[in-house]
Amino acid sequence: MITCVLNGHSNINEVQTAAQIFFPNERFSFIGSVPDFGWTVVSEKKIDGYRSEIFYDGVSKSVFFYAPDHSEITEKRVVILAVFYALKKIFNADTPWGALTGIRPTKLIRQWLAKNEADEDIISKLVNVYRCRFDKADAALQTARKENEISVKNGLIGKSSAAVYIGVPYCPSRCEYCSFTVRGTVYSDKKIISYIDALQIEINKMSKQLSGINISSVYIGGGTPTVPSDDEFERLLSLAQKNFCASKTEFTVEAGRPDSISENKLMIMKKYGVNRISVNPQTLNDRTLERIGRAHSANDFYRAFESARNCGFDNINSDVIAGLPGETDEDIVKTMDGLIKMQPDSITVHTLAIKRASRFNESCVYNDNAGIGSMLQSAHAACRQAGMVPYYLYRQKNCAGNLENIGFAKPGFECLYNVGMMSDIQTVYGFGAGAVTKLVDGDFIERKYNVKNPDIYIKKMIGEDD
Ligand code: SF4
Repeated sequence: MITCVLNGHSNINEVQTAAQIFFPNERFSFIGSVPDFGWTVVSEKKIDGYRSEIFYDGVSKSVFFYAPDHSEITEKRVVILAVFYALKKIFNADTPWGALTGIRPTKLIRQWLAKNEADEDIISKLVNVYRCRFDKADAALQTARKENEISVKNGLIGKSSAAVYIGVPYCPSRCEYCSFTVRGTVYSDKKIISYIDALQIEINKMSKQLSGINISSVYIGGGTPTVPSDDEFERLLSLAQKNFCASKTEFTVEAGRPDSISENKLMIMKKYGVNRISVNPQTLNDRTLERIGRAHSANDFYRAFESARNCGFDNINSDVIAGLPGETDEDIVKTMDGLIKMQPDSITVHTLAIKRASRFNESCVYNDNAGIGSMLQSAHAACRQAGMVPYYLYRQKNCAGNLENIGFAKPGFECLYNVGMMSDIQTVYGFGAGAVTKLVDGDFIERKYNVKNPDIYIKKMIGEDD
């Protein structure tokens, strides 16, 4: 447990987020004075900046005062920088993203690009003020530029354009690292029929409001959207296509788990105009797949991927995760070799994040941060060698080694949904249990959350329709 003491301000999240860089997987408590045991982070507001002091067993170990030298550094960022620098003095840990906390590092960079700041000035700020490593600063700048290019080229900016997300919160089994709203194996065909009935009600209610808006992308994610029976899967796709898709709409189904992909499912997707799918191995090491509860083998992935190509899918994404328990650099190199041989059109390289609600967290399986940086580098190098460039980037809490997730794509195969969603550029209408509608109007963002529990979602939708 890490103790925090705040004086003269109430920026709890910022203090905790900065401290989490050095104390991952720890719990935090906020009290009024410094105790005489354990680590304590004190953050104090001064007239012209913030002062942080770090104590261990009640003894002061480090002090740092940070005063912003230009107005664009917001008060919240000053709090973070003061805590970060004070802790950095004690733990000279490798912090690849430095004090750049937050899910979307490219958002800040796009603000600088909008002011026509030069690349070297942006890199200098990231490296010297935020203490980002040069390779991360460079990747973030490249990605921010790509996000701008894609959103302008495809008209993602502005109120007349939006994306649609439809969630199916069921999976064939539960991955050990998963913290999403999934029902695991406890669903039944009857339950899924009711769930799609509920989706139909929610979509019908909203679709009139969306007329006149250009839906640039529709993304069916999960969970595992390919879990329903063929008939129900067809009903789901028909619903999405009829209500949201025009001839140029990007229509993605996250087929995800190779064990849920059949030729019938692929044919149904073709019939309803799905033009992008994800087939995700996460790793091609069978022992790891078993350890993480994925209930499929590497060969299942190869078979599913090949069937998708044979069915005519010419835009296939695959996700991998670096830092899975027990894996080494050698494993990720093997996974990337196997994956690249299949010639996917895009690859998202995730860093394992163990969240509170996951089984790994319950059984205290944490990331082994050693080597995670070089695993990511190997994966990124393989993507670049395959002709892909980074086009979206985001970070999550509890990412191993405080690292990131990067989507790479061959030119022309960048996913519009991912860009619009992760860059906060575009309004996203979310349907289904746990889905979030994000209304974007310039810098103003409003989020509306659907209830997470699928059973309550079904009751709510069907109840409201009666
Ligand atoms: S496939 Fe995705 S949503 Fe389903 S259990 Fe695994 S991580 Fe969770």
